[in-house]
Amino acid sequence: MCHRHLLTALCAWLLLALHVLAAPPYKALIVDGQNGHDWKSTTPVLKKIVEDTGLFTVDVATSPPRGKDMSNFRPKFADYHVVISNYQGDEWPEETKKALVDYVKGGGGLVIYHFACAAFPKWPEYNEMIGLGGWGGRTEKAGPYVRWRDGKFVLEQVPGPTGGHGPMQAFKIEVRNFDHPITKGLPPAFMHVEDELYGWLRGPAKNLTVLATAFAPKAKGGSDEHEPILFTVDYGKGRVFFNALGHTAKELKSVAFIVTFQRGVEWAATGQVTQKVPDDFPTAEKASVRP
Ligand code: ZN
Repeated sequence: MCHRHLLTALCAWLLLALHVLAAPPYKALIVDGQNGHDWKSTTPVLKKIVEDTGLFTVDVATSPPRGKDMSNFRPKFADYHVVISNYQGDEWPEETKKALVDYVKGGGGLVIYHFACAAFPKWPEYNEMIGLGGWGGRTEKAGPYVRWRDGKFVLEQVPGPTGGHGPMQAFKIEVRNFDHPITKGLPPAFMHVEDELYGWLRGPAKNLTVLATAFAPKAKGGSDEHEPILFTVDYGKGRVFFNALGHTAKELKSVAFIVTFQRGVEWAATGQVTQKVPDDFPTAEKASVRP
C-alpha cells in the first residue's frame, strides 16, 4: 500500500510539474462588446491566433451592448501582460479609463486592432496611447498625418480627411524599420489579401515608430501616400502596437496579418519577440492564407 501511495503522489507531482512547464507564460485580455465591425466573429479568431503562439492564455472581456448601462464594466487590466482592443463604442466609466491609462503607463502592453483606432475620439489619453486614429467624428484637430518623405517620417498638419479607405484591394506592405523586434527578420515587402487599406489617420503621434507602410493609390480611393499600417507608441513605461489590417474574419486568414499580429502582441506584452518567421510567410509578389 505504501508503495502505491508513494507512486500516486509521485505521479501527481509529475503531472503538476508537466502542467506548469507546458502552461503558456503570459496572459492576454481581448476587450470587445461594441464595434462598428463584426466583433463577434473576429474575437474568436484573434483569440486563436494569439493562443497559437503557445505563449499566451487569452481571456475576453465583453462590455454591455451599445446604449446600455456601462457603469459596472471594469476589466482587470492589471492582471494581464497585454490588453488587445477589439472595441469601438460607448464611453467607458471614468474608473475603467483611468485603470487602462495607469496600466499602460505602468508598463502594460496594449494592442489596437483595426477599427479600435476609431474608438474614444474625445478621450485625450486614449488618442495619445494609440498615436493615430480616425473616424468617430475626429477632425483635423486630432493632429497631423505621419508621412513618408525622402526616406524618413514627418508629421504633416494639412487639411484633409481623418480616417478613410478606398474599396477592398490587395496591397503590398513595406517594412520601414528593420531593427524593431516586431519586424526584424521579415522580408522588406510582403503581400496582404484584399482588405481595407486604412489611410489619413491623424493623432498626437508622440513617441510613435512606424514599422511598415502600404501605398494607397489615388486610383483605388487612396491618398497616394505610403500609409502607416503597423506602428508602435511608447506611452509611459508601456508599449502600444497598432495593426490596421483585418476588416472581417476572412482577412484574418492572411499570414501577413497573423504573423504581424502575433509578433506585435508578444512585443507589447514583453518588449521582445521570440517567434520565428514561418515558412508560409508571404512574398513581395504573393499573399499567403491559412485555412
Ligand atoms: Zn474595417
